[in-house]
Amino acid sequence: MFIDAHAHMISRTTDDYQAMAAAGVVALIEPSFWIGQPRTYVGTYVDYLSHIVGFERFRASQFGIRHYCTIGLNSKEANNEELAEGVMEILPQFALKEGVVAIGEIGYDEQTPLEDKYFRAQLELAKELDLPVMIHTPHRDKKKGTLRSMDVCREHGVDPNKVVVDHNNEETVEDVLDRGFWAAFSIYPSTKMGNVRMVELLKRYGGDRVILDSATDWGISDPLAVPKTAELARQSGVSEEAIRKATYANALTAYGQSGQMSEADWIDGLRVDQTQLHEGNSILRGGRDPVVENVKAGTAGLIIE
Ligand SMILES: [Zn+2]
Repeated sequence: MFIDAHAHMISRTTDDYQAMAAAGVVALIEPSFWIGQPRTYVGTYVDYLSHIVGFERFRASQFGIRHYCTIGLNSKEANNEELAEGVMEILPQFALKEGVVAIGEIGYDEQTPLEDKYFRAQLELAKELDLPVMIHTPHRDKKKGTLRSMDVCREHGVDPNKVVVDHNNEETVEDVLDRGFWAAFSIYPSTKMGNVRMVELLKRYGGDRVILDSATDWGISDPLAVPKTAELARQSGVSEEAIRKATYANALTAYGQSGQMSEADWIDGLRVDQTQLHEGNSILRGGRDPVVENVKAGTAGLIIE
């Protein structure tokens, strides 16, 4: 069984859901983020958040996967102050919806004053609502941005045990673990942070406080990154316990602190019922027969590239 702790399924196809379920992904977390095209007014943000807490959650259930999400204003769009102000007003109502496991992904992109302002405001919101936090660390100046994100969490009195710092690499991992935060890694195919490098990190640091995810989205990414890395780690001699922590148990512990995610949600199998509707609509097209079955998480034969 696997949990993919970071997956933007709104950008993915039904084939991806089917492949993930077949590979043993029982649950995933969809963080709120930038969708590629900048939003021009708050209404589109409202619809996006409604989509990930509503229809996307339903769509995942139709393929036997439990869907959770995080709610937040992303750092990129924090630079549009008018939009950001509007989004901050509507965040609390979304953050309290069923299946919301954290405030996120928040943090820094270019590390501007506006990004800093809204990062801090959202840390306060997480404290107020007693929710975990998912931090997006910047792709540029990663080390500086990562250290700064953790410093700001400390300044605001946010417990590191409730904060997952995501998109780590070899440069940042030690600081994050030393300071008691959860260290998540997004596995990007054919890049520095690919699964071969990740296995090396697991060998070096073990599985404690480490969380693997695919960060699959509209770019080149692999929705099977977590099961594939687990398989490669197994073949490379990493212990079953470390693999289980990094690909399942730690995500459950960290985000389970929200009270919105528990193993009971999937442990007895999931019932897929494609006769169900979301606000009157089905996922079925073209007169397809609905699947109604109980699904047990299985493991398909995986090809590792
Ligand atoms: Zn993301």
